[in-house]
Amino acid sequence: MLLRARVGFGLTDDGGPLSKALDEANYCIWCHNQGKDSCSKGLKEKEGGFKKSALDIPLAGCPLEEKISEMNFLKSEGIPLGALATIIIDNPMCAGTGHRICNDCMKSCIYQKQEPVNIPQAETRTLRDVLELPYGFEIYSLLTRWNPLWRRR
Ligand code: SF4
Repeated sequence: MLLRARVGFGLTDDGGPLSKALDEANYCIWCHNQGKDSCSKGLKEKEGGFKKSALDIPLAGCPLEEKISEMNFLKSEGIPLGALATIIIDNPMCAGTGHRICNDCMKSCIYQKQEPVNIPQAETRTLRDVLELPYGFEIYSLLTRWNPLWRRR
């Protein structure tokens, strides 16, 4: 077991490097193409409702229905700004999610019999990649206010 010392309110997990995020984005099979992206929409039973985990918790996917599969695809194609803009459609508060918060998406990944895609790490790295660009924070701020890919706006 990995033990990490806590100091004050600082995060104990620094998140993964770019190589790890790209590994996860390419491990994903981009299920949105088949409408089967259970990480976002939940793992559904044929007769309706959601499948349940071994602990009897419904596998309902991302509470925000974030476009995870699309994000992973864009990330794998080397389009970090597009990947972040896609996250921001449903989750402008992504600076507070990712590896810091729930992993309902990961629990509902289509890979139920093998290691699921580590979506929280991929999401956080996508944000950090943009923040590390020149004017990265301004780009992030602009995307959260403008949200150009949100068609209803
Ligand atoms: S994260 Fe899992 S469920 Fe979601 S698109 Fe990728 S492989 Fe499919």
